[in-house]
Amino acid sequence: MQICIHRGTKEIGGTCVEIEAQGQRIVLDVGLPLDVADPDSFPLHPIRGFAAPDPSLLGVVISHPHQDHYGLAHRLPVETKFLIGQAAEAILSASALFSPGGVKLQNVIHLKDRTPITLGPFTITPFLVDHSAYDSYAVLVEADGKRLFYSGDFRAHGRKASLIDKLVNNPPTDVDVLMMEGTCIGREDHTFPTEDELVPKLAEVFKTNLGMPLVWCSSQNIDRIVTVFKACRRANRQFIIDMYTAEMLRATGNKRIPQADWNGIRVFLPKSQKYRIIQEGAFDISDSYKPYRIHWNQLAEAASQSVMLFRPSMIRDLEAEKCLDGSVVVCSMWGGYLEQPEKKWFVDWAKEASLKIIHCHTSGHASIPDLKRLRAAFPDAKAVPVHLQDRQRFVELFDNVELHEDGEWWGIES
Ligand SMILES: [Zn+2]
Ligand SMILES: [Zn+2]
Repeated sequence: MQICIHRGTKEIGGTCVEIEAQGQRIVLDVGLPLDVADPDSFPLHPIRGFAAPDPSLLGVVISHPHQDHYGLAHRLPVETKFLIGQAAEAILSASALFSPGGVKLQNVIHLKDRTPITLGPFTITPFLVDHSAYDSYAVLVEADGKRLFYSGDFRAHGRKASLIDKLVNNPPTDVDVLMMEGTCIGREDHTFPTEDELVPKLAEVFKTNLGMPLVWCSSQNIDRIVTVFKACRRANRQFIIDMYTAEMLRATGNKRIPQADWNGIRVFLPKSQKYRIIQEGAFDISDSYKPYRIHWNQLAEAASQSVMLFRPSMIRDLEAEKCLDGSVVVCSMWGGYLEQPEKKWFVDWAKEASLKIIHCHTSGHASIPDLKRLRAAFPDAKAVPVHLQDRQRFVELFDNVELHEDGEWWGIES
């Protein structure tokens, strides 16, 4: 088995790993690097089968629906076989209506937890993991009697934390290489609150605020949407979500996750999303939410009993409806987000509007103690870091580490 990490040996995001056995190949992730704004201008990796079809490329695994793992998928030939979770595929497909980041994949095999898939000389076994993207997998790749375990992105403090316990308590055996993410290494050397620990914190904000709290978080962070809904329940407020978010919840196909037809949820249609629905003639989608809708002119009256999922593109409309009296902004995203220069206008606007900004978030990635737990589950494997910035710290933290460079081919020795 020969391996090439085309990108990701010293960078968070943009991961792409090619694995070759007996002249055939698979790829793990086709991510768009985080600092590339335009996916169409980024040069494709020199992988046969990327620029033009090649039968020796048997499949491309997309570990989870984050752009830094799937962002180049739409540029591969239509014949390309993608291996992705069913809900992850549905999320990317449904988001294509509302977001340029969405993608409809044509030729798909679904990853299912612990169900092996055979492609030529490769056996690929997915392991569902806990991450801030829904339907995320680690994968075990076997070929030529060698075994590589790729962690993908994961954490162990979200709503599926028990999956990591299950994995470390009963890991695949005889693994030669553990290719493990290290996002938090050197960045955040501490543990993180669990998703459930955010619930009382948010509920307190919702209870004590007289106006309508605006929660700014990713619509695809399903764990977080569940957290916000639980906090709404505790604070006895309804949760107003936009139609795009409602579509993401529906795409999970999981009836235990809050849905538009649940008590305590209302759906609104921001102007930008309404425009997309008209443009695409997607009236079946807007019609399906009719019984659960709340309209702009109802917001002011509902404000004191509601919490609203928010993004800055809604500011002008919210101001026009005069529903922001006594409101507060809850930024439920990475802490550095609002410190970026391009977000300064938003911070200034909130100040001008007398809206306090409260931060309430937990990481989508494993803390160092949890990385150590995963490492310890594969004691005989070499550890190869990916999806990280601080490789030196990785070497200090773990035994038996092997560093590789982007674009370098290396083998698993017999
Ligand atoms: Zn990532
Ligand atoms: Zn991710």
